[in-house]
Amino acid sequence: METSPRPAIVTTIADLRWAVGAARKDQKRIGFVPTMGALHEGHLSLVRASQAECQYTVVSIYVNPAQFGPKEDFARYPRTLQADLEKLAGVGADLAFCPSDAEVYPVGFSTWVEVEGVAEPLEGQCRPGHFRGVATVVLKLLNMVQPDVAYFGQKDYQQALVIRRMVADLNVPVEVRVCPTVREPDGLAMSSRNSYLSPQGRQKALVLWKSLQLAAELVRQAERDAATIIARMRQTILTVEDAQIDYIALVDPETLAPVEKITAPVLAALAIRIEGTRLIDNCLLEP
Ligand code: AMP
Repeated sequence: METSPRPAIVTTIADLRWAVGAARKDQKRIGFVPTMGALHEGHLSLVRASQAECQYTVVSIYVNPAQFGPKEDFARYPRTLQADLEKLAGVGADLAFCPSDAEVYPVGFSTWVEVEGVAEPLEGQCRPGHFRGVATVVLKLLNMVQPDVAYFGQKDYQQALVIRRMVADLNVPVEVRVCPTVREPDGLAMSSRNSYLSPQGRQKALVLWKSLQLAAELVRQAERDAATIIARMRQTILTVEDAQIDYIALVDPETLAPVEKITAPVLAALAIRIEGTRLIDNCLLEP
């Protein structure tokens, strides 16, 4: 029997529900990977994680205007739909959901999800309204797809925490999985925004990973004072000409509250601008 081409592509919620409904009727476990497209190995690792435990994998490609601030890069965010679909075909994803803005935010839309607590520090402080946009679109997508499992990357650690919180607080019937950050061979975390960097900027961007590795090394050498580690990370970042620091933080991995003395695993997280491109990265430090 001939199999239909993969991924099937749908743009409306009605067609999405029809396709996912058919898969569910076949007793398939439904995995869901929300993305903004410009797909790279980080995204594809989430698709593979879904395929390892689900029989039907849905990937959404939607650049969500609600999570960008007025001065952010929404207009120039990379949109590479054809290449994305080829990559999804390459890994054998089942369904690509590529809705329009009107499908996601029809006229009259006025309901928003605000997560408190873990959404407030770090990215929440630097990007007011960002997590409101993220939580709202992710809840909507979860309601549209109704997956058994949804997959997120540790690259966006705080985002994953915000979504876990929302899913628990609003009793969303989905399992949330967080998968490791996929890096380039030299350590740079893969990101759709890396494409904004010039070759020189791309080299400079390595300083995020270098400073995280330095933090890990200091903890291995029994440094327990967070301020000392942050100061050394800052020094490392500032060796790069024009690097601008949004934040460098050592925080509790569950609450994101600042840590002073390292007595348990802490999350090192940072947001740095290189050539005006805002890059984030993080890693867990284990004393
Ligand atoms: P985005 O398209 O940037 O909204 O990302 C979609 C999903 O892919 C999010 O759950 C991200 O955390 C995840 N992701 C992005 N970059 C990476 C990476 N380098 N490694 C693992 N997951 C990633």
